[in-house]
Amino acid sequence: MKLLEAEHLSRTYRIGSVEVRALRDVSFSVHSGEFVAIMGPSGSGKSTLMHLLGFLDHPDGGVLRLMGEDASRLSEEQCAFLRNRVIGFVFQQFNLMPRSTALENVCLPLLYSDDRKNDLERSGEMLTKVGLADRTGHRPNELSGGQQQRVAIARALVTRPLMILADEPTGNLDSKSGREIMGILKDLHAQGMTVVLVTHAEEVAREAERIVRMHDGRIISDEKRPDFRKSPALIHELEDRGFLRKKKYNYKEFLEHFRQAKRVVLGNKLRSFLSMLGVLIGVACVITMLALGRGAGESIKEDLARMGSNLLTVRPGSVKVRGAVLEAGAATRLRLEDARAIAEVPSVRRVGPQVMGSGQIVFGDKNWSTRVMGVTPEYAGMRNQEPVTGRFFTEEENQGRQRVVLIGRTVRDALFGNDEPIGETIKINRVNFQVIGTLMPLGSSAFRDQDDVVVIPLMTAMRRLTGKDFLDQIDVEITELGEMPAAQEAIENLLIRRHRLTPDHYDSFNIRNFADIQAAMASTTRTFSILLGSVAAISLIVGGIGIMNIMLVSVKERTREIGLRKALGATPRDIMIQFLVEAVLITFLGGLAGIFLAGAVSWLIATLARWKMIITVGSLFLAFAFSAGVGILFGLWPAKQAAGLDPIRALRYE
Ligand code: ADP
Repeated sequence: MKLLEAEHLSRTYRIGSVEVRALRDVSFSVHSGEFVAIMGPSGSGKSTLMHLLGFLDHPDGGVLRLMGEDASRLSEEQCAFLRNRVIGFVFQQFNLMPRSTALENVCLPLLYSDDRKNDLERSGEMLTKVGLADRTGHRPNELSGGQQQRVAIARALVTRPLMILADEPTGNLDSKSGREIMGILKDLHAQGMTVVLVTHAEEVAREAERIVRMHDGRIISDEKRPDFRKSPALIHELEDRGFLRKKKYNYKEFLEHFRQAKRVVLGNKLRSFLSMLGVLIGVACVITMLALGRGAGESIKEDLARMGSNLLTVRPGSVKVRGAVLEAGAATRLRLEDARAIAEVPSVRRVGPQVMGSGQIVFGDKNWSTRVMGVTPEYAGMRNQEPVTGRFFTEEENQGRQRVVLIGRTVRDALFGNDEPIGETIKINRVNFQVIGTLMPLGSSAFRDQDDVVVIPLMTAMRRLTGKDFLDQIDVEITELGEMPAAQEAIENLLIRRHRLTPDHYDSFNIRNFADIQAAMASTTRTFSILLGSVAAISLIVGGIGIMNIMLVSVKERTREIGLRKALGATPRDIMIQFLVEAVLITFLGGLAGIFLAGAVSWLIATLARWKMIITVGSLFLAFAFSAGVGILFGLWPAKQAAGLDPIRALRYE
């Protein structure tokens, strides 16, 4: 039965304007079970013919049939299938994967076949068959030339092909190893295997049943040895192999690609690390950004819950307006009388006038600079600021301008450490105050440490400490949330009336409810998030380009390997997946490192700036999705380049 049939094959190479007619009108056929040697001087076209027979290359003219099937009609995938399952290649240079063991090398073609059952066992059996049972764990550089070629033969056999194509298999071997290899090929033939062998050595060709001689791209003789002992031909039905059906992919192939990728990435640790740096920073930024946003949102919510949402604040307006108004001599400063008047407005429950300033606090040899707030006793209730230890001051103490103080957690830690502060005397701007309580820790509000504060009676602050006769802020608590708009309007009108403001000066004070304040805080957070987001976007893009670059280098470096994989039956898609898996693995590792970096940065921000940072599981997933996306996006082009390589050129690439 005719296995291969070539009719008028021709193949012409073009290098610039020079044409090399490597094959001219070659017709011949190979029957199942034959042992054919193709002979001829160097340059006569033997390898070119071999590549055509092996579906590694396509003829320019003529027809090549495989079991009657016109090969020119086969797709790239189907050619890959034939190289994998129908043909076993043996090369002069052995072409083993240098970093893989003998067993792994033999296993390689099975990766690309969809018959991967017991792959390791089968590979082991093949190695036993070529006499290398005790060398399975050796790498190519730990084997002699003859042993390497035997590994290559085992690799050619492992997918149970119909035919072995051997291109000068003994060309790189000493004569003893050469004879051993020929012995193996003869044994295979005796078991029914079809063998086609290229050689320029007469004594090698003499081992074959049939010798085809070539010269200058033509067949000049084709002789059979009548005395050759025939062997029963292996009859396979090509249809059984189903080479026209599509290959099935399964997770095992992915796993194997992953293993390979891991080996490549770990094999070049520094290089892999440097190339993942961009993704690392990008992912860290994404997570930090999300943690910041989430944390700010959360602390805003907490603030709202703590302070109650039915609080208004009244403050003097902007500097510019105030300046203009001052010139005009109008009273825009909020005074205690304003606060008292506001308290009379219907649906106002209570008011909390405040002054603020900064103060230098001294206790013993310790010094601390902090915010000083002068408030009335209502403050404790309105702002949910009951002291944790000690007590708040009373209205009598306020009116009596007593020098008593409550201190925030941060101030307490700074001045007293673990000692009891209550009853001690501290100096605020050189004035002695007695500590009567410590404030409830508020933690970090979105942007400042709320515990870095001391609270003293309003009257003491105005008369003894700051010398101010006006207020910085009046908190107003409304009886019901629903009354808020009406109350706001009433207070507005009251202040306009009291200060005799003309319409163009209406904004010389402003009244805000807490929702407004929180919104302002949220917008600051957003600005920060946008900043981080931009850094993230830029580093992800730069990181992606870095990955693309390293993958392109990797494709160049591994051109021969890609050629070999293709010769063993890898489809373009297999190669593509292999490189994509590698790119994604690098970015994934970058993403993982990025998560750790984000954790560290968030922790730093949380401890140093006291901002609330919340890393959610969702943001981690997002980060992983980002890094995988970058890997696929930027790995695609290099992977395509690899997948598109021509197997013959790639194999010969130096
Ligand atoms: P052999 O295997 O008998 O030594 P080849 O088939 O390798 O011969 O080469 C036949 C001719 O084709 C030679 O003249 C060679 O220079 C030329 N040739 C082979 N491969 C290429 C190629 N990729 N590009 C250009 N010319 C080639």
